Amino acid sequence: MNRPFSFKHILTLALFMKTMCDNCKDTITREQFYSAQDYLSCLDYIAELDAFGQFAIIEQTCPLDAVKNPAGKWIADVIHHKIACTVCGDVFSAYADTYHGGGYFKKDD
Ligand SMILES: [Zn+2]
Repeated sequence: MNRPFSFKHILTLALFMKTMCDNCKDTITREQFYSAQDYLSCLDYIAELDAFGQFAIIEQTCPLDAVKNPAGKWIADVIHHKIACTVCGDVFSAYADTYHGGGYFKKDD
């Protein structure tokens, strides 16, 4: 007998719906930062998401606008910010390794 909806179908559908939260589905993530400017513009974007109430900052090594000290140096070798969607609670992380260069902004697993 071929049942129309298997457990696997329902699970797939549930996972699909979870990734379709209208509030965060269009968030622009970055697999990789290619430059310091790239990272800084991503932080501006995150600040906007927070300001509009779309996301809330839940964890950070320093405020978004304080990743550099007044002398223009990075505040730490590793900087991260975690934000959560205010509708579904999904968490996105921005991570930067300012010492070696590189980082990303993506949805947590
Ligand atoms: Zn969401």
